[in-house]
Amino acid sequence: MNTDTFALYPCDLCTSQDLAEIPAAPHYMDGRPLHVCNACGFVQAAYRRTPEALQRMWAEEIYRANDARISDKTYTARIPAVVARQTFAVEFLAEHLDIKGKSICEIGAGEGQFLEMLRVPRFDMDTFAIEPSKENCAILNSLQIKNFAGTMEDYSAQSNGEQFDIASLIWTLENCQSASGVLAATHDIVKPGGHLVIATGNRILMPFKKPLQYYLGSNVDVHPYHFSANALTSLMHQAGFKVTAHNRFIDSDYLVLIGKRVENIDDLPMPTDNSAEIIQFFERWHNETQAHYADW
Ligand SMILES: [Zn+2]
Repeated sequence: MNTDTFALYPCDLCTSQDLAEIPAAPHYMDGRPLHVCNACGFVQAAYRRTPEALQRMWAEEIYRANDARISDKTYTARIPAVVARQTFAVEFLAEHLDIKGKSICEIGAGEGQFLEMLRVPRFDMDTFAIEPSKENCAILNSLQIKNFAGTMEDYSAQSNGEQFDIASLIWTLENCQSASGVLAATHDIVKPGGHLVIATGNRILMPFKKPLQYYLGSNVDVHPYHFSANALTSLMHQAGFKVTAHNRFIDSDYLVLIGKRVENIDDLPMPTDNSAEIIQFFERWHNETQAHYADW
């Protein structure tokens, strides 16, 4: 493949270049590889399009037109499954933090319904959205949600230093070019002692919750990261957010973590996963899928 378009990236969590391919994965990903870091166990598509190549691809609109999942023409986040998981994130947040009247910045706010849920009188939050899609920003404007059209990195580069009580990444971090880069930038926009909530899918080292072809696909350039609870904890700790709450993820489709902004990370643990166990886990999942769900 063209080296101007693709690059092999080091581990986004620990920067190790010692990455193993997961043998079961390319079967579901049009032959493209999925990696696990041998040093920390973080699962990621390390071989992916460069940011420049992705921008060219987005500009040409080809990708959007061909991928129903992310096409503006067909995709809407207002379907029951998405509303359900956002509702879970709202209630988890309300259970663990005093959010009434506080300010929140959602990174990758999409069509804004998570923030809409937090504007109701029960919570009365002061909402702000960072969202790269201009189409979605038009929707946010129509909902009178203050917003910035661009990425988290764009926002922090031009930010006037505004800080929020809470930042949120709701099913967004897995789609970022660099998860660690976004989290580092997020630290700067959270007030000292403020919080970050991250919600994501929960599949790694968990009971198999869907056939593998429903989880892995060829969209690795827009979905490079697959978090375990350990990997996400270490990413948050590395970025200066001490994990203070997590959901019971063993039997949930969701993984939701809340972290408090801290200035010193020296004492925070950096839990890892074993890469051999990850590879074996995918092998079992692959075998289970092929034996029982391959035709679904
Ligand atoms: Zn690593």
